[in-house]
Amino acid sequence: MNDRKYAELIIKEALKIKKGSILVINANTEVLPFVREVAEQAYEAGAAEVKVNMRDEILQRLNAANMSEERLAHFGTYHLDEAIDYAEDGACYLSITGGDPDLLKGIDPKRIALASKTAGAVMKPAMKYTMNDMNSWCVVGYPTKAWAKKVFPDFSDEESIQKLKEEIYKTVRLDREDPIAAWNEHLDILTKRANKLNDMNLDRLHYTTKKGTDLTIGLPKGHIWVGAISTDDRGTEFLPNLPTEEIFSAPDKNRVDGVVYSTKPLNLDGSLVDHFKVVFKEGKAVEVNAKVGEQNLKDLIKTDEGSCYLGEVALVSVESPINRSGLVFMNTLFDENASCHLAFGAAYPTCVKGGEKMSDEELAALGINDSQKHVDFMVGDETLEITGYDAEGKAYKIFENGDFVI
Ligand code: ZN
Ligand code: ZN
Repeated sequence: MNDRKYAELIIKEALKIKKGSILVINANTEVLPFVREVAEQAYEAGAAEVKVNMRDEILQRLNAANMSEERLAHFGTYHLDEAIDYAEDGACYLSITGGDPDLLKGIDPKRIALASKTAGAVMKPAMKYTMNDMNSWCVVGYPTKAWAKKVFPDFSDEESIQKLKEEIYKTVRLDREDPIAAWNEHLDILTKRANKLNDMNLDRLHYTTKKGTDLTIGLPKGHIWVGAISTDDRGTEFLPNLPTEEIFSAPDKNRVDGVVYSTKPLNLDGSLVDHFKVVFKEGKAVEVNAKVGEQNLKDLIKTDEGSCYLGEVALVSVESPINRSGLVFMNTLFDENASCHLAFGAAYPTCVKGGEKMSDEELAALGINDSQKHVDFMVGDETLEITGYDAEGKAYKIFENGDFVI
């Protein structure tokens, strides 16, 4: 297990970089050596250009704390021009996550929300390229010091980074003798389950847990369950997430009713939200309570019209290697692949038949949610039971004791 193998998995298996590919990498300054490794391998695979956007967390915090309110409310449209230019040229995207989960702790949530809302409003037209799978994209993780210390607080900086790196390698099956073969086997299981769910043509799902979750989630007509593999507009198959353990679809945003309890902490733009419950009525989150970070959660669902509705329903077995590691990664990419989850905000139009070609109005009529936000939160545990019902009311057991029974 080493960085070279990890980069190879990303370039060859997840993004299938080939001659002429344009790769855009978004990463943290702290992981620059790994970015260079990925860029080198992308060029070895024939890439035409590797464009790197670096962000520095210390500067990010300084800006969040000190920028004038006027400048916080400003986001230059040239960012959008650049994003559209690359997207139209067919670029594929790699996001390397793994920053400090507490980066923005203590900073006025209103300032964070303002900056995020401003950027989101300007960049919204660029979201469709990845949300609709028009272009290939992949999100991976790589340890930084602050993140590693959160996961392994009792070790030195160096040791904690090394330990987290090894755990990340395991979640992406680099510990297997033949990682690529292990991936293909895993992808096959996910695809078969997604096909079974598609054949059931369900109308709704009912969730219950010991903690008190009792939630009904309507599914739109023509919804599709998607496994780990996506296909972009140029016919290239790609893996949007490494690791990936989920099968997901879009809920009908207007048919979600009941209460759901979180089962893992949520890192919201650098602020931690934990031990929360959400009450839904006709799709809308009408009540939220959190022991930690309640205000951040309330601000999130007030961001725009769609942020208080759900945009994703995802199924993940408790047997997932991320869950079995017993670690809380404090990073959504990993924690969401440990547990069944839902997301506030935008749905993936690819989760309904023909969705990627539908107008906003057609998608809205099916109950496909739209928002500048997409925030996953974890709701699965060892007691989760999920029953699906088709339009005639026929019941199908989907989950028992936190695991698939299909
Ligand atoms: Zn998901
Ligand atoms: Zn999601």
